[in-house]
Amino acid sequence: MNVLVINCGSSSVKYQLFDMADESLLAKGIVEKIGEGVSIVKHAARGQEVRYEAAIANHEQAFDHIRKALMDPTTGVLRSADDLDAIGHRVVHGGEAFVQSTLIDDKVIATLEEYSALAPLHNPPNLVGIRCAAKAFPGKPHVGVFDTAFHQTMPKHAFVYALPYELYQRGRIRRYGFHGTSHRFVTMRAAEFLGIPLDRFNAITCHLGNGCSMAAVAGGRSVDTTMGLTPLEGLVMGTRSGDIDPAIVFHLARSNGWTLDAIDALLNKKSGLLGLSGLSNDCRTLVEAAPTNERAKLALDVFCYRIRKYIGAYLAALGRADAVIFTGGIGENSVPLRRQILEGLDALGIELDPAANEVRGREAIITRPSSRIRALVVPTNEELLIARDTLAIAGKQG
Ligand code: ADP
Repeated sequence: MNVLVINCGSSSVKYQLFDMADESLLAKGIVEKIGEGVSIVKHAARGQEVRYEAAIANHEQAFDHIRKALMDPTTGVLRSADDLDAIGHRVVHGGEAFVQSTLIDDKVIATLEEYSALAPLHNPPNLVGIRCAAKAFPGKPHVGVFDTAFHQTMPKHAFVYALPYELYQRGRIRRYGFHGTSHRFVTMRAAEFLGIPLDRFNAITCHLGNGCSMAAVAGGRSVDTTMGLTPLEGLVMGTRSGDIDPAIVFHLARSNGWTLDAIDALLNKKSGLLGLSGLSNDCRTLVEAAPTNERAKLALDVFCYRIRKYIGAYLAALGRADAVIFTGGIGENSVPLRRQILEGLDALGIELDPAANEVRGREAIITRPSSRIRALVVPTNEELLIARDTLAIAGKQG
């Protein structure tokens, strides 16, 4: 079974093709800057990488390029569309309707359209991706894998906001959480790695990339997470503020005359590591600059402190934890930030091993053998989990 995984954004389409017989990656690529005049196509397969520029006006044309790349006589990996068995789509917001990955039909598309209001930046392009892929590869089963689905097991006291209850009942305003596919992947992998049955595995998962979120996982199921109605809540991120006093919004609007759009851009695009440091949203740049740049150091201090606070909160929420798991670009690779986050937590049962922590991009335990709670690095692979779900669901159809 060959499964194509699609991650469709507003101006880009990323794709990966898996041979699910051995879960090997046959090809991957991206079409970027769609509709921006000069678009860029990158395709890697059979140990070769192709990159070219083209005028790609819309997503439909982007899928023509992907189709051609996958079936190219020299660098392609599919002889014809018959070699493709199913397509899995990353969908950001599945709301309360989708608690697990789902075969996409017209009813599913209609429900996702309803959720577009909750995720206006993400769901509309995800839907465009589903439509274009159906056109480019007709007759194939399509499966939606939702960023929100893993967190649908949260208890109500963790997901409702202390707002008038009607806002939840009628307006669907509640915590949904995101990065669910990543939190689920690393949870399953860490339980396997540690030899603990998933239904008895309690963990705190930290997905630290450009977007950052944590989840409290009890018995393999998410019981709390830091992102909320939108991906803005919770941790400090590359350019997002995470938790702030919501009254800051009124203050900016009333006292400084800011428009809602300007505040939205401020909190989502100009805050976080970038806003605090004034230098970069990339933690590598900040780690390098920190010894001589006070604001770079402050940005990293605020970033790590927020994560430590949530580790404490989630230990209390869980009562007992087997593991703290790090993933995402920062979680997998940043030795100094993992150290800053975990150092001095021995009394809580997390004893960091500085030597073991010198690991980048591979699975490892980074706490001492005596540590009651183990901290681990687990590289995430959301695409593979999307492919697995797609295979499981599409396989049932055939
Ligand atoms: P995204 O959330 O867009 O998928 P990533 O998961 O790649 O992003 O995370 C981006 C962050 O990871 C950046 O802050 C970057 O500095 C950090 N990062 C990526 N690679 C490394 C590395 N080798 N060492 C330290 N930090 C890294």
